[in-house]
Amino acid sequence: MPMPMDFDVAIVGGAFSGASLALLLRREQPGLSVVIVERSEKFDRKVGEATTEVSGDFLHKRLAMTRYLANHHLPKQGLRMWFAESPQTPFDECVEVGPNFQVRMPSFQIDRAELDEHLLAEAEAAGAVLLRPAKVSEVEVSAEGGMLKGTRGEEAFRLRARWVVDASGRAALLARKFGMLRSLEEHPTNAVWARFRGVEDWDGHALRSRFSDYAKSGIASRAASTNHLMGYGWWCWIIPLKGGDFSAGLVYDRRLFALPKEGHPGARLKAHLLSHPVGREIFQNAEPIENDVRAYSGLPYASEKLAGPGWQIVGDAAGFLDPLYSAGLDYCSWTVRCALGRIAAEAKGESVDLEKVNRHFRESYAMWFESLYRDKYVYLGDAELMAAAFWMDIALFYMGPVREVTTAREADMECFPFNGPVDRLAGRFMRFYNGRLALLARKRLEAGCYGRRNRGWRQLGGGFTPDAGSLRLFALGLRHWLRAEWHGLFLRPRRGWETAAANIDETSSQPVTAI
Ligand SMILES: Cc1cc2nc3c(=O)[nH]c(=O)nc-3n(C[C@H](O)[C@H](O)[C@H](O)COP(=O)(O)OP(=O)(O)OC[C@H]3O[C@@H](n4cnc5c(N)ncnc54)[C@H](O)[C@@H]3O)c2cc1C
Repeated sequence: MPMPMDFDVAIVGGAFSGASLALLLRREQPGLSVVIVERSEKFDRKVGEATTEVSGDFLHKRLAMTRYLANHHLPKQGLRMWFAESPQTPFDECVEVGPNFQVRMPSFQIDRAELDEHLLAEAEAAGAVLLRPAKVSEVEVSAEGGMLKGTRGEEAFRLRARWVVDASGRAALLARKFGMLRSLEEHPTNAVWARFRGVEDWDGHALRSRFSDYAKSGIASRAASTNHLMGYGWWCWIIPLKGGDFSAGLVYDRRLFALPKEGHPGARLKAHLLSHPVGREIFQNAEPIENDVRAYSGLPYASEKLAGPGWQIVGDAAGFLDPLYSAGLDYCSWTVRCALGRIAAEAKGESVDLEKVNRHFRESYAMWFESLYRDKYVYLGDAELMAAAFWMDIALFYMGPVREVTTAREADMECFPFNGPVDRLAGRFMRFYNGRLALLARKRLEAGCYGRRNRGWRQLGGGFTPDAGSLRLFALGLRHWLRAEWHGLFLRPRRGWETAAANIDETSSQPVTAI
């Protein structure tokens, strides 16, 4: 048995969360020794490529990576959604909802293989010890610290540390070991994705010369946005990467949508992208890059606890909910902030209320789900209902978490969103209107008018800011919602609607409306 190597902090997993934590620990607590154990020899491309303004702020200010990001990744120009009445809707008549202008706050389209490699190299340069490729196979923890056992090539190793941090992503080493991992059965979502070459230039001459309304409208770059194709029970992301490749993926609720089972996943994904009129224009000559197609089923899960005596969890090892709105790296940054605060406090001899941390984490995750995602997939494909949510959800995100992060004290332990009284009130309001929008979507399905305004309009709004300035954009959403409520008063179920709703056209952005 090899002699254990002693460290203050031992981190399992050296991707975004593990490497960020190691780097910040070495910068801010240089007296602490840090070791990272990373299984892979080299990072592959992976999902988690579009940041929001929360994770953008973390990269820009907290990690101070702005110059590196400008040189190696792309600025993100907001979120844009596209709706169609049917697969035959002309491209120029598809509904477009998104920003009119370039954004005001830093956010990025990142190539994760490149970013994670850079963060890990920076952590090592800052003095963290890196074991790679090396796999942790056993973890023991106690109030006095923990022990990691594993292998590096043929050799076994043992590491002893005062704090063991799990940053192992979906492997969720500690949550599984303690039997604390819970899936979220109420939100049964799957995803399949790939990187593509040969994607049409959204801002290029070919589209501009053929579609005059498209060419004339909008000031911001569409290509630099995170574009979403929307349908009943599903959505697709399209994210540009530096160098010209695009990441594209499909996320769907298994209760509402099924991807055909036959064929290679890359071909099925492409076929699905082509079923949307906007996807058809953009992806007709595109091909998935070989060996870069992945799929997950059962996306959401969470650990019951985030921290305990001698251990802490960060990033996806703590949980994941839904990639719509790209909040994954936000949660990674919140959990990393939380670990930093806890380790800094305990290193000074202060005691930390870990039960409170765990309670805040659980409440935050539950509020995040209830206010934003519960039953959302029912109305994703209805342009009017989703536009209502788009403006209201994003305006409240800016006035809440984005404002909090940009003004928060960094060492603040209570760093999870949705925990304060105002957050809770806002969360309850969001739950209410998201619930109403889902209900209205069901009424529209029953009445045969789901997607009734899925053709012939664009709504390109001004920029969001993390203050009351976002109220103007909130009002756009409110107007859609109130109009939908008024319309809903006159809706009556059509005869035979159950058959129609069950008979979802999988290539359409809507359920079949003909009965
Ligand atoms: C479909 C989908 C789309 C998404 N899109 C977005 C998006 O647009 N924007 C966004 O912000 N987020 C997105 N996310 C979320 C985002 O991908 C994750 O939040 C993020 O990648 C998590 O990073 P991490 O460092 O915590 O974990 P990971 O990136 O999973 O890293 C874990 C690391 O741990 C290592 N490891 C695991 N086990 C061991 C072991 N036993 N020993 C040693 N090393 C080990 C692995 O090799 C890996 O390098 C998406 C997620 C999904 C599922």
